[in-house]
Amino acid sequence: MTILRGRQIAGVAVLMLACVAPYVRAQNIDFRAIDIQTVKIADGLYVLMGGAAQGNIAVSVGSDGIFLIDSMYAPMHQKIMDALARSPQRIRYLVNTHLHGDHTAGNEAMAKLGAVIISHENMRKRMAEPQNNAPPAAALPTVTYTDSMTLHFNGEEIYIYHPQPAHTDGDSIIYFRHANVMHVGDVPSSLRYPNIGVNEGGSVDGMIAAAKQVMKIANPDTKIIPGHLGPIVGFKEIQQQLDMFAVVRDRVMSAIRAGKTVEQVVASKPTADFDQGRMGGAITPDRFVTLVYTDLARKAK
Ligand SMILES: [Zn+2]
Repeated sequence: MTILRGRQIAGVAVLMLACVAPYVRAQNIDFRAIDIQTVKIADGLYVLMGGAAQGNIAVSVGSDGIFLIDSMYAPMHQKIMDALARSPQRIRYLVNTHLHGDHTAGNEAMAKLGAVIISHENMRKRMAEPQNNAPPAAALPTVTYTDSMTLHFNGEEIYIYHPQPAHTDGDSIIYFRHANVMHVGDVPSSLRYPNIGVNEGGSVDGMIAAAKQVMKIANPDTKIIPGHLGPIVGFKEIQQQLDMFAVVRDRVMSAIRAGKTVEQVVASKPTADFDQGRMGGAITPDRFVTLVYTDLARKAK
């Protein structure tokens, strides 16, 4: 199957509210209108793409069963199962890249099918907090780790590591070492402006550090699956995000030091020279600038 480039699938994304609050209810998304696209990226490895509103699911299918990364919003469950229906294998494991609802809200349905859910320990902790609309117990990960872990499954060495607080403080990055495929969740890599989980331990500096670390652990040939859009990016896209982040960070920081309010900074359009070519979605330029400001303002104090 041909790998679709991000721009060709831009039309799929219509109404979006992705990754804005922890474990959000998916408002304003017409799930009936979203079709999952299945893209093969290596033998036994696929990306299930549900448009910009959903996290990209990675799937490993083989003689040991099915291994999934992320579970999208709950109403997508049947569509995910339809996409997996060609395999007679059981779903054995599900790893969450982080707690946002577009990556985890389908957990409960997967757990009911017998999937063992894995996450970083901070993700599970946050997900279980009552103020985060704690989901049913079945949706919570049953296996957690601190620094890294490796799963030997379907002939793969699946390396799961925590990049230190970045998009949130419970992120996981998953690297299929043999296939040289990496799913980086919402660590910067996408074709849109990055979301920053400023209320879940995420930060601008953490996002930048995690993206740089990805380029040390992966290599220029690694197929990188971003949390959204894609299905595949490489170092070029990560570097573009890093370059943009560095400039916007400095602009917003100078404005904060000059006493500007968030409204003033948003109105000054500090991302304007980067807007072209970045796909939209819930993370509009204004939303991105607001997130950067929110994080940097508390550091400037
Ligand atoms: Zn997210």
